[in-house]
Amino acid sequence: MNLLIMGPPGAGKGTQAVEVAKELKIPHISTGDMLREAVKQGTEMGKKAKEYMDKGQLVPDEVIIGVVRDRLGQPDCKAGFLLDGFPRTLPQAEALDETLKNVGIKIDAVININVPRERIVARITGRRVCRACGDTYHVVNKPPQESGKCDKCGGELYQRSDDTEETVNKRLDVYEAQTQPLLDYYGRQGLVKDINGDQEIGKVLQDILDTLKQIKG
Ligand code: ADP
Ligand code: ADP
Ligand code: ZN
Repeated sequence: MNLLIMGPPGAGKGTQAVEVAKELKIPHISTGDMLREAVKQGTEMGKKAKEYMDKGQLVPDEVIIGVVRDRLGQPDCKAGFLLDGFPRTLPQAEALDETLKNVGIKIDAVININVPRERIVARITGRRVCRACGDTYHVVNKPPQESGKCDKCGGELYQRSDDTEETVNKRLDVYEAQTQPLLDYYGRQGLVKDINGDQEIGKVLQDILDTLKQIKG
């Protein structure tokens, strides 16, 4: 299946995408993870992207579109893919359509995780990420077994530099202005599957998998 997962920052896209991708045996492609990796490696793109990310702004379309195009061209995407955090603007959605059209494939569904805005700040400020493997935790909702340490690999957990209260509000505004309109774009194509993200993590996953089962028939 060729899937997109959408929703505001902190909705639980990454948390769910990891599990859904595992279940369906397709690659999980997170543009946020790819950009953070570029920042960590100190590449030219990483240096440029970091300025936007720390301000809660989107990196320019031309930067991210090229990255995603290259990634979708990798052989593992022939089995399908789950795109997380892309597209975020109308030009990105149009570029994705064109890229997929050229290889004759279609998006099967857009999983849209809904979480009320007032819940988001606590989710984002409590988020902790493993520096080594990228696994995501929450100080209250999904604490690691040992404080500050990743359950999977023992790596150090850190707080993303953009996961501050000021930046969150900016990111939510950017989401509402630039990304939310894409739900109309995909809605017109009948692709949007709304999921209640304001439930326990396992229940959200179950709802997503049940919804996808109906599509596959
Ligand atoms: P996104 O990728 O949409 O930005 P994440 O998957 O990183 O969101 O989740 C944001 C934070 O909220 C993380 O700390 C995560 O552990 C926590 N979280 C994710 N899903 C839920 C949920 N259903 N209930 C409570 N907390 C959640
Ligand atoms: P979240 O789900 O918490 O908003 P992500 O990890 O998806 O965070 O993205 C972090 C930051 O990376 C964004 O605020 C933005 O600056 C940048 N970014 C990620 N994906 C894109 C994209 N498709 N277009 C532009 N910027 C992006
Ligand atoms: Zn780890």
